[in-house]
Amino acid sequence: MNIHEFQAKEIFSRYGIPVPRGIVATTPAEAKAATQELGGQSVVKAQIHAGGRGKSGGVQLVRSPEEAEEAAQRMLASNLVTPQTGPGGAPVQKLLIEELADIKKELYVALTIDRGHRGPVLLVSTQGGMDIEEVAANDPQDIHNEPIDPLSGLMPFQTRRLVRKLGLDPSVAGDAAKVLQALYRVFVDNDCSLVEINPLIVTGDDRVVALDAKINLDDDSMFRHADLMKYRDISQEDPLEAQASDFDIAYVNLYGDVGCLVNGAGLAMATLDVTNAAGAAPANFLDVGGGATPEKVSSAVKIILSDPKVRRVLVNIFGGILRCDIAGEGIVMAYKETGSTIPLVVRMLGTNVVEGKEILAASGLAVVFADTLAEAADAIKQLQI
Ligand code: GDP
Ligand code: MN
Repeated sequence: MNIHEFQAKEIFSRYGIPVPRGIVATTPAEAKAATQELGGQSVVKAQIHAGGRGKSGGVQLVRSPEEAEEAAQRMLASNLVTPQTGPGGAPVQKLLIEELADIKKELYVALTIDRGHRGPVLLVSTQGGMDIEEVAANDPQDIHNEPIDPLSGLMPFQTRRLVRKLGLDPSVAGDAAKVLQALYRVFVDNDCSLVEINPLIVTGDDRVVALDAKINLDDDSMFRHADLMKYRDISQEDPLEAQASDFDIAYVNLYGDVGCLVNGAGLAMATLDVTNAAGAAPANFLDVGGGATPEKVSSAVKIILSDPKVRRVLVNIFGGILRCDIAGEGIVMAYKETGSTIPLVVRMLGTNVVEGKEILAASGLAVVFADTLAEAADAIKQLQI
């Protein structure tokens, strides 16, 4: 689950990480009043679940309350498109109005899981700011990292080592080390998959402040973070993905026209690859899971069918915990309820495959059966649509 910058900063504050004074606004009038309260100048920041705002008009420094009002009007009027949002952009419903910072240095700091190391890794760079992606691509030696042993946690010698790499004056090095230690506690306590401060700044008067804040929470840990659920903002989520998550279906919206119904994440990934290789483009990733009922399968199929991009459906079921007859029943149920005529290619194997295919064959739906995944992908490609 993604959360907004102002929410991440609320969490940072609880852990003693310094953040600028800020006020959330939802209207131009509130942005104006907030700027007044902050002394007449501010930075107006669009709150969306994506970065790259600075490059795309989503972060504006203003010198008067009236200017803040205008900036707010502009940002709230339309979706914000950044290099990270996709072409449709993200709706801007909230703004963070912050006091202006006097920036002496912009650093990059992040914690994430390094799969190679099988544990958390702390990353820092002196080249923080809006071009960290280019630094990673062109000057990877400027990004320093410390793999962390999850049993011992982030050790003081590791933070000292990274702070030394940042080349900070002794007057701020201690504060920077404290921020790194606090950030690790944020990461562990809240089951984050990513915590990023870009930029972490050193101010003109030598304070260390988190000017930006990004937190991604691990969805699989949400059951033990009821308090964090209040941060969910469904308006920032893809509507079909939000609907799927309510049914506990793993679903990611993609760009093609082949709706994919699969059980098992690995099989779903393979299905996308083979479909692509056959020259057809998947509209989604969907893993309906193991213990699905006909109703759950039907919900998954209805999500696929309600996607206006979808013009053909590929079913790839390996019947194990999910039996093929249950899958067949669920598919027929969804088609009957929606009245859809979108053609299907079905590849089924495993438990109750004969019954599953009989249910589909007797349903009157436009079904083409295939025995292997490669044949199924070819059949999808051949469909006249
Ligand atoms: P992002 O582009 O979505 O990551 O948004 P950020 O919060 O990182 O803001 C982008 C850039 O705006 C930062 O890297 C800073 O250079 C600049 N910025 C943000 N707040 C201030 C501020 O208070 N004063 C100044 N001078 N620059 C700011
Ligand atoms: Mn940033």
